[in-house]
Amino acid sequence: MNNQKLIARSNSVFINTYGRYPAAMIEGKGCRLTDADGRVFLDFLAGIAVCSLGHCHPAVTAAICAQASKLVHVSNLYHTLPQTELAELLVANSFADRVFMCNSGAEANEAAIKLARKAGGEGRYEIISLEGSFHGRTLAAVAATGQAKFHKGFEPLPAGFIHAPFGDLAELEKLITPQTCAILCEPLQGEGGVRPLPVEYLQGIRTLCDRHNLLLILDEIQVGMGRTGTLFAYEQFGITPDIITLAKALGNGLPIGALLTSEKVAAAFEPGSHASTFGGNPVACAAAVVVMQTMLGEGFLADVRAKGEYLAAGLNKLSRMFPAIGAGARGMGLIQGLALSPEFIPRGPEIVNRLFEAGVLANFAGGLVLRFLPPLVVSRAEIDELLAALARVFAEMLD
Ligand SMILES: *Cc1c(COP(=O)(O)O)cnc(C)c1O
Repeated sequence: MNNQKLIARSNSVFINTYGRYPAAMIEGKGCRLTDADGRVFLDFLAGIAVCSLGHCHPAVTAAICAQASKLVHVSNLYHTLPQTELAELLVANSFADRVFMCNSGAEANEAAIKLARKAGGEGRYEIISLEGSFHGRTLAAVAATGQAKFHKGFEPLPAGFIHAPFGDLAELEKLITPQTCAILCEPLQGEGGVRPLPVEYLQGIRTLCDRHNLLLILDEIQVGMGRTGTLFAYEQFGITPDIITLAKALGNGLPIGALLTSEKVAAAFEPGSHASTFGGNPVACAAAVVVMQTMLGEGFLADVRAKGEYLAAGLNKLSRMFPAIGAGARGMGLIQGLALSPEFIPRGPEIVNRLFEAGVLANFAGGLVLRFLPPLVVSRAEIDELLAALARVFAEMLD
C-alpha cells in the first residue's frame, strides 16, 4: 500500500468536499505522522487543534482500549460513569454548573443556539455573531458563521442570525433588537485568521449582554482545552460567559463535543428539549477524562504558555529576517499565526505546499495568515525545526 494507490482509491469513492494534500496517513506518534510511502511529517496542525496531547498519547489510547473492552454504547437512556466523570471535571474547572454532550463542534453550537432561544423565551430568537467568525457546517452553524463564502448556495439559511462588524461595539449595540437573545463569538477567531478579540472588546460585549439581558455564548471549540495556555480562553479576558461550546481537543481525536452553562440557563431545557444518540459516548468520554486530567496536571498549562511565547518570538524573528514575507506573529498560547505581507498573501497556499514538501504540516487561515496549531506537547526542538523549515522555504521563495 502506498500513497498513490490509497489516494486513487479514496478519490474514486468520496464526494469531492475536501482539498486534500497528497498523503495517506497511516500512523502517528507525538508530533509526527507517517504516510503510506514512509515519509515522516512534523505536525503543526494536530488534526486542526484536535490531537493536543499528540498522536496516540499512551494514556489516552490505554483509556480507549480499556473502555472499549468494557462498554461502548448504551444511549442516554441510562447513566454511565465515564460521561459523569467527564462532566464533573468540566464543571469543577470552569464557570459552569451543567453540561450537555454531543459529538462535534457544530452540534455543540446547535445545542447552544437552541438553548439560547429556549432561554430567551417567546419571540426572542435572534443571535448576533461576528464577521470573520466560523461556527461549523450544519445549517444553523453556517448561518451563524460570519463569512459569505460558507453561505453561498445553501440559502435560504435559518432565520435569526445577524453579523456585526469585527471590533466595533457601537455597531454591535445598534443590531440589538427586542428579538435578540444572545451574542455568539470566538474569543479568538481561528478559521478567520488567528484573530484574538481585543480584551476590552470582549469585555464590552459582556457588558452589552448584561445591559440588554442577552446570553454570551463563547465558541471555544478551537481555542478551548488548553490551546491558549489556560484551560479555557475566556479565563484570560476577565469575563464569565453564559455558555461555552467545546469539541476538537476534548477527546484528543475521538469525536466529542460539549456545551457548558450555568444552572440558571440550563433550566430552560427540560427532558425532551434536546438529545443526542451518541452524545457522551463512554469511549469518547473515557478519552476526554484522561485529556482533562493530563491538561490539569502540574505545569502543563504554564508550559503551553511558555512554548507559545517561544513560538511567537521565533515567528517574529523570522518576520524581521524576511520582512518582504512575514508581518509578525499573532495568537495566544499555541495557536499562532504568521501574518503575511500584502504581496505574499496570494502566495500563502504556496508556502503551505512548500512546507508540506519539506515535511511540515501547517495551513493558511482566513486567506491571511499561516496558522500553526502544534500538539500542546510539542518540544522546543520541534518548534526550532518548524522555524528552520520556514526560514528555508522563505529563502527559496525570495531566490
Ligand atoms: C472546528 C470549529 C467548529 C466546527 O466543529 P466541527 O467539529 O467540525 O463541527 C466550530 N467552531 C469553531 C470555532 C471551530 O474551530
